[in-house]
Amino acid sequence: MIIHIPENSDFSIHNIPFGIFSTQDRSPRAGVAVGEHILDLAAVAELDVFDFNTAVLEKETLNDFISLGKEITKKVRRHIQAWLQDDNSILANKPQLFVKQSDAQMHMPVYVGDYTDFYSSIEHATNVGKMFRDPENALLPNWKHIPVGYHGRASSIVVSGEAVHRPKGQTIPPDSKQPIFGPSQRVDFELEMGFITGKDTKLGDSISTSEAEDYIFGLVLFNDWSARDIQKWEYVPLGPFLAKNFASHISPWIVTLEALEPFKVSGPEQEPEVLPYLKYEGTKNYDIHLEVGITPEGSEEQTVCHSNFKYMYWNMAQQLAHHTVNGCNINVGDLYGSGTISGKDENSYGSMLELAWMGTKPLKMKDGSERKFINDGDTVTMRGFAEKEGKRVGFGEVSAKILPAK
Ligand code: CA
Repeated sequence: MIIHIPENSDFSIHNIPFGIFSTQDRSPRAGVAVGEHILDLAAVAELDVFDFNTAVLEKETLNDFISLGKEITKKVRRHIQAWLQDDNSILANKPQLFVKQSDAQMHMPVYVGDYTDFYSSIEHATNVGKMFRDPENALLPNWKHIPVGYHGRASSIVVSGEAVHRPKGQTIPPDSKQPIFGPSQRVDFELEMGFITGKDTKLGDSISTSEAEDYIFGLVLFNDWSARDIQKWEYVPLGPFLAKNFASHISPWIVTLEALEPFKVSGPEQEPEVLPYLKYEGTKNYDIHLEVGITPEGSEEQTVCHSNFKYMYWNMAQQLAHHTVNGCNINVGDLYGSGTISGKDENSYGSMLELAWMGTKPLKMKDGSERKFINDGDTVTMRGFAEKEGKRVGFGEVSAKILPAK
């Protein structure tokens, strides 16, 4: 191996995720994470080893690189895997090609033109339905027929590490008919994964479930921050607005669909039967362990949730097929959130709303304090990895701190 990769690293030879990084001496450019290092792709390009226009590796986002198409991006990944494992390859004895991750700053990996958030975990949708509507009819009648979603705000999607201020807005106090204005008292995280499309479609075109994987470049961890008190007052009749668009964080490394291929598993049975355009063949869910930790200011991290991406009721192929069935066009770099990923167990719920059950079951932190929602100074960190037969492919983390309202 050209560079040491620690055992249990998320960024093993089986992964090779793409991102955008900068160093003190050089502006943002493309790289891949390898163990604790970044292989500088713009520097590799200077060795004249790629047969495409390598200007795309010196851009501030990966959109142009991804636009080259899977045939090329897959080949780049395969070459890097081969070079790293061959002690006599073109990467040998060139330490300048590798940057320590601790010496680099990560940036948004893509320019996100459009962002859609789904609501595809049956456990999450059922929990929320029980709390806010009718425990006997927690799922609305459309839920098992449509991968429910809404169009979100792309401008406030930011990369891991960027702190965010507690949002202010209108809320309705209990037993009151008059709203008040002020900082949200119920800031929450949502544990999600996001996929990024790597191919455009034309207005009017649709993507079938069997074509969907050609259009998905890769996945990231996604924290869809939510202000529950603002959400409760504003969401009828058109859905979430300011409760959701103050910030959402993504992890900086895009793990390709190819790297996740070995971790495919069957999804839950879909009953009643879905309409023909939502049917699919093969396995379309992914076994990816997920966890969330909360670190209060000056204290240690407390893990509050263990979940798994395989719990999703609707898979990404169905989400993309549904999204485009009416002819809605998609672009390279668009982001699609899975919706909060909850499992059946109480410790697998993907939001504080569910974990602390609307504040009725506060969670204990390591410093002795309790949490119903997220406090100022808290850092929320999500991690995710897949592992099978000694192969580990991980996402690193998406982590961000909540600052007091501005
Ligand atoms: Ca969400």
